[in-house]
Amino acid sequence: MNINAIQADITRLKVDAVVNAANTSLLGGGGVDGAIHRAAGPELLTACKELGGCATGEAKLTDGFELPARYVIHTVGPVWKGGEQGEEALLASCYRQSLALAATVNADTVAFPSISTGVYRFPIQQAAAIAVSTVKTVLKKYPSVESVTFCCFSADELAVYNACLNQLTD
Ligand code: ADP
Repeated sequence: MNINAIQADITRLKVDAVVNAANTSLLGGGGVDGAIHRAAGPELLTACKELGGCATGEAKLTDGFELPARYVIHTVGPVWKGGEQGEEALLASCYRQSLALAATVNADTVAFPSISTGVYRFPIQQAAAIAVSTVKTVLKKYPSVESVTFCCFSADELAVYNACLNQLTD
């Protein structure tokens, strides 16, 4: 099991599956969602329309179309509302459901953006701690998934993820 963090544009990664921090409509948005739709081309939106939306904390699968990644796993993170609205459990659910989907399509390599920490304003320290600990726990159930990469957009974000990863060494 290999869990690592890098600073990169997730639309450029040659992994089996990239995770998209989508919204409940699955019809595209800003941030990483917009970047993935632009890079994957218009067929991605057509495929998403057929999925009929996605609830917060859940995940759905499409092809990657023009992306280097074979699949896109669309998950909907919680909007941060102060922390008393089940945000932590919903964020953990995004990582859990995304990895379960990756395993069902035999995706060996998976990359996640920092779900909910952009427009949805989830505090980065808390979000990174949840992301790292959930992935670490869940991967034990899916030995076919060989590597998970946290694809950070900024150097600051990367530092936070690396700190969490270093705390969790066995
Ligand atoms: P959310 O609505 O779940 O908060 P955002 O897309 O607003 O989603 O932000 C999630 C994270 O994705 C942020 O840390 C943002 O900096 C990052 N991000 C934006 N574009 C990209 C990209 N091309 N590759 C990787 N991460 C990205």
